[in-house]
Amino acid sequence: MNPGPWGMMQNGVPFGETNSVRDFLDLFGTVHKPDREHPSKPVLGFSCSRSEISGRRFWELARVLGAGSPHQFFKHAFVHNYFPLCLLSSNGKNITPSELKANVKKEIERACDECLVEVLLLLEIEVVVAIGRFVEKRVQKLCSRANLPIQVSKESWMKVALKHAEQALRDGEVPVGCLFIKHNNIIAEGRNEVNVTKNATRHAEMMCIDTVLQNHWRECPLKKFGNVTVVVTVEPCIMCAAALHDLGVREIIYGCPNDRFGGCGSVLDVAAVHCKPVPVAGGLYSDQAMSLLKKFYKGVNPNAPLSKVKTKRNY
Ligand SMILES: [Zn+2]
Repeated sequence: MNPGPWGMMQNGVPFGETNSVRDFLDLFGTVHKPDREHPSKPVLGFSCSRSEISGRRFWELARVLGAGSPHQFFKHAFVHNYFPLCLLSSNGKNITPSELKANVKKEIERACDECLVEVLLLLEIEVVVAIGRFVEKRVQKLCSRANLPIQVSKESWMKVALKHAEQALRDGEVPVGCLFIKHNNIIAEGRNEVNVTKNATRHAEMMCIDTVLQNHWRECPLKKFGNVTVVVTVEPCIMCAAALHDLGVREIIYGCPNDRFGGCGSVLDVAAVHCKPVPVAGGLYSDQAMSLLKKFYKGVNPNAPLSKVKTKRNY
């Protein structure tokens, strides 16, 4: 949507933060200037030294999902910009679609809708991860209108997991949130409940495991957990990582590292010693997850009783 002046406008790549485009996507070459260039927003191509943070985050996610390889990422994904035009006002300000006149907006949306539907059909897309509310609503409308059996993500899973972590912080718990995803649906969600239960094993992952066991008790363990993607805001501790490996989950995606008890490499790499290692990827929304932990350990949570604030070793 709406190419950023220091990203896609510089190189034509959606979310095209220069370093990511050059170093991760390995794209290079000469970018020519447009016929009419605004002096305050020059097109510098790969010489652009300004970094666009949203682009950096987006391609960092692609790097994690592709285990460091763009080829791996693009085996399962396609990045499409709904509205790939950069419109600038006379003073160089970026014009967003919502600022356009109704008749212009309608005409642009018609062309963008048509193109998007073609892409969805051509590539037989199953899930759309919409970035931004405008696109999310647009895709939902299009899928409903064209009766396309496509799931549209409302929020990234890690953002939902972070909401649980934030609630845990408000409850005076070490802020960790976790989701279990199966066939693109959340089948369990939980947060750390160590302090409220006075049980040191009640980590967010354990809460989710219990939910699955309770709700899907008829299924055999392999069916219960074999297709489950675990999304957790903090690297699972050794206990949880071992449990998730034993249950044979599909993959583990975590936010920030857990330097004290991490079981995915920080303290011990459970995958390296397990007979059936599970794919693990970390670093998604790491800063946000880490910032919640820091708030907890600094005791800035106004709702946390003093004694709970100091329970650093509960997780
Ligand atoms: Zn744990």
